[in-house]
Parts: sequence; C-alpha cells; structure tokens
Amino acid sequence: MLRFTLHALIVLILTLLTQIGGIAYLLALAVSRIWRIRFPTKLALFLLCYAGATFAASLAAPMFGRVPLSCLSGAADHLVVRSPIYCALNRNYVTPEVRDLAMALAAHMDQEFPGTVTVALDANFPFMNGFPLLPHLSHADGRKLDFAYYYKDAEGHFLNGVTRSPIGYFAFEEPAPGDELPCAGRNDWLTTRWDFDALQPLFPAYGLEEQRMSAMIAWLTTEGVTRFHLEKIFIEPHLKNALGITDTHVRFQGCRAARHDDHIHIQVE
Ligand SMILES: [Zn+2]
Repeated sequence: MLRFTLHALIVLILTLLTQIGGIAYLLALAVSRIWRIRFPTKLALFLLCYAGATFAASLAAPMFGRVPLSCLSGAADHLVVRSPIYCALNRNYVTPEVRDLAMALAAHMDQEFPGTVTVALDANFPFMNGFPLLPHLSHADGRKLDFAYYYKDAEGHFLNGVTRSPIGYFAFEEPAPGDELPCAGRNDWLTTRWDFDALQPLFPAYGLEEQRMSAMIAWLTTEGVTRFHLEKIFIEPHLKNALGITDTHVRFQGCRAARHDDHIHIQVE
C-alpha cells in the first residue's frame, strides 16, 4: 500500500510539473516490472522514457494546435527561452499565433535596439486546454506567454539577455513609497501572490531598462493587437505608472494571481 501511494504521489508530482512525466514514469515502471531491474537502471529507464515522451510531444503537439519555442538558440536568434529547464519540463508550448507574435516582437526589438535579445519564460504545456502550468493558473490553453524584463546595470548599461533571477522569475521590482498598491492590507491564504522576501537580497540590483521596456509595450499594444490579436498584458500597477503606460490592454491581474513586477504576461484572443 505504501509503495502504491509513493508511486501515485510521484506520478502526480511529475504530471503537475511536466504534464507528460507521470506517463513516462508509469511506462518505465511497467517495463521494470517485466525485467526486474535495480534502481540505477530503473532511473536510467525513466529518464529514457521521459526524453522519448518529451521528443514525441514536440512532434505531436502541433496536431493539437501548440508549437514549442526552441531552447536551442543560436547567436543570430533574437528570441531565447530563459533556460533549457523550461523545455526539459515541457513548459515552452504556445499556439502558432503566440509564437509568431513572440518572434515578431523580438525582431522589432532587435530592429529598434540592434543586438537586443528578448527572453521568453513560462509558456504552456503541450496538450489539453484547461490543464494549467502551475503556478500560472491561466497558462492552460497555449494563448499565454511570459517575457522577462530588460535590465541595465548600476551605470545604466543594457544587460543583453540577462535576468536578475536565474529562472527569470521572483526578482521583484519593489514599489516606491507612495506607489499604487492594489493588494495592500490583504491577507489571502489562497493566493499565488508570493513575495519571497528571503530571496530578494540574493538577486543582483539591476534596474529596469525603461527604453526597451516602453518600446516592447508600445509594440505589443499596437502591432501586437492589430497583427496578432493580443488581448491583454499583465504588469503591476506601480510599474505601469512608472513607465507611463495608459493603454487599456495593460491590466492588473488581481490579488490572487502572482506578482507581475518580475515579468510581463501576455495573452492573445
Ligand atoms: Zn503569465
């Protein structure tokens, strides 16, 4: 019974984390039952099944309307996924329209600011509408994608392709005194609005590169809307105000969703 519970728990965690990992685990488990192999071989077998399932997903997903953003970027690519971990966990799938938007945005940014690399973060899993990419509850249909901010160092030099946090998330831009704070005083227990206060001193104190940030949002709210049917952008109100954004596509995500002063979220219709 204990063994069954353990297997079930592993399947659940792998499924929540990677969508197809639980199936790869069950497959490896079935094969290891037939062959009666030891733990290191079992682990290798699971990794083999997982790698196979991940590759198969990249081939099958387009039939279900989602395409992977590539983690294998070359020097000439203007759009990169923050880390190979995103692809290893199958968190890099979007609809073809979102992929085209991301590539057009990156091309525009490179045109305006030559050499600029645009960094994509969490996207969606390869299959099934309604299956959320935790902790992003809304990343469940291929139409959502997060981008990293553009940063500069203390001297004001642009840091190309660099993020404050190694995974692109959780290094928050703290609001200044007097800034608009829509969630002040709330104590929701059912929320993914985590502050990670203990992590903050670990991140380098880069600043936002406002010119590129503004150019990105200006493009998204014009070309992004007309050519790619961009529906909404989420960014924290204090940053929206600081960047002087008034466009109505730029909204606040609500207090139960994650903070959006470490990344930008977009979704298309
Ligand atoms: Zn998002």
